[in-house]
Amino acid sequence: MTIVKQDILGLNFDNLTMEEALAKGEALLEGDRAAVVVTPNAEIAYDACKNEEFRDLLNRADLMLPDGAGVVLAAKLRKTPLKGKVAGIDFAANMLQVFARRGTKLYLLGSKPGVAEQAAEKMREKAPGLVICGMADGYFKDEAPVIEKINEAGAEALFVCLGAPKQEKFMFNHQSELTTVRLMAGLGGSLDSFAGNVKRAPKWMIRMNLEWLYRLCKEPKRIGRMMRLPKYVLRAVFTKKK
Ligand code: UDP
Repeated sequence: MTIVKQDILGLNFDNLTMEEALAKGEALLEGDRAAVVVTPNAEIAYDACKNEEFRDLLNRADLMLPDGAGVVLAAKLRKTPLKGKVAGIDFAANMLQVFARRGTKLYLLGSKPGVAEQAAEKMREKAPGLVICGMADGYFKDEAPVIEKINEAGAEALFVCLGAPKQEKFMFNHQSELTTVRLMAGLGGSLDSFAGNVKRAPKWMIRMNLEWLYRLCKEPKRIGRMMRLPKYVLRAVFTKKK
């Protein structure tokens, strides 16, 4: 399978369907090191436009999924269209089935205390047979003991849900120390969603690319952050191609 990378305002997104992303995810599980999956949405991609260090970090990922309609729209406006949105949370939910089938040991890291436990329960319901080998909340001071616990658990897959850019820094800073992990993904607030604390938009809104509007209505204080979405799209229109 050849997957083409598409440069969208400096970020090298993988241009693939969900099926291709899952196949790639499964192939990475067969590798000999901890591969990194990143899932920038338009807000994060906008931050990356402004911050070269963050952009370079994201571009080191083995798999970069376009999380959200904003990135897909920007790609279209740049005349380098992507096959479609591959939301991090949907990728993660589908990978649970892959892990269950293969007996891959999954570790959950992030969110407030108690959330990962709730998420684990829901995940086991969704993917019977899933092995969750450990979990820890995302509010720790020292990273070393966290790495140690993940290694001791023999985790092969790791969901890192600390928000951006904390989760990306965590993954790349510790990539070589995570000796048993083969696939790790930065997934923002996904554990809150799995746990059921944050509801996703109704299906029709997701279909019509209106998930952002749903989130804004639920959490109006996100408006500051969400303004990055139109700014990102404007940047896609007005930035000259190199
Ligand atoms: N979080 C965490 N540790 C921190 C900061 C945040 O575990 O030090 C968690 C937070 O509880 C939430 C997630 O990271 O579950 C961030 O979610 P958000 O939707 O803001 O992610 P983003 O949009 O930044 O990817």
